[in-house]
Amino acid sequence: MQSYPDTCPCQISPASQSVSSALLYKDCCQPYHDSLCHEEVDQSDGIYADSAERLMRTRYSAFVLVKPEYIVKTTLPAQQNLLDINAIESWAKETDWAGLEIVEHMPKLGKRHAQVEFKAYFKSHEETTSSLEKNIQAHHELSAFVKVTNKANNDTRWYFLDPTVAMTVSQKQPCICGSGDKFKRCCGMYI
Ligand SMILES: [Zn+2]
Ligand SMILES: [Zn+2]
Repeated sequence: MQSYPDTCPCQISPASQSVSSALLYKDCCQPYHDSLCHEEVDQSDGIYADSAERLMRTRYSAFVLVKPEYIVKTTLPAQQNLLDINAIESWAKETDWAGLEIVEHMPKLGKRHAQVEFKAYFKSHEETTSSLEKNIQAHHELSAFVKVTNKANNDTRWYFLDPTVAMTVSQKQPCICGSGDKFKRCCGMYI
């Protein structure tokens, strides 16, 4: 059995000290992680993020708890094969995560997109001249998400649009998310 932290990693923020309302991992991101990891067994009662912010939080927690499979499965399906799961895993392991702060959630951009501005904190082990103490730094990013409806079962899920994945798609081709719109009028506006 892998042991898990009590407080969900996504609930820890060095910027705010309001720890009183922090959710436990089992009441926060764990059901989402478990759902995707056991997807092959039973697809009927899976729990999927109902907003881009929720997906962002579960992805952050998956990095902290080193669940690269969850990171891959929550990336847009057309990009999944282009991800390097081993690189994701080593990066997750090597990073000394220190907390998450959601700066802004823009839940509705156009028909099917959303953006989340966030800061993912980590401890830097670089020695500074003045002090050997670990100092906390942040990846400050604006991530884009797209809502995709599976036409077979009408199941709608949010996915992360990875801007670092090189896609061989032209601006006029149908979008990689399967929406039927042209790439440049759809996900191409965000990556
Ligand atoms: Zn969480
Ligand atoms: Zn699209």
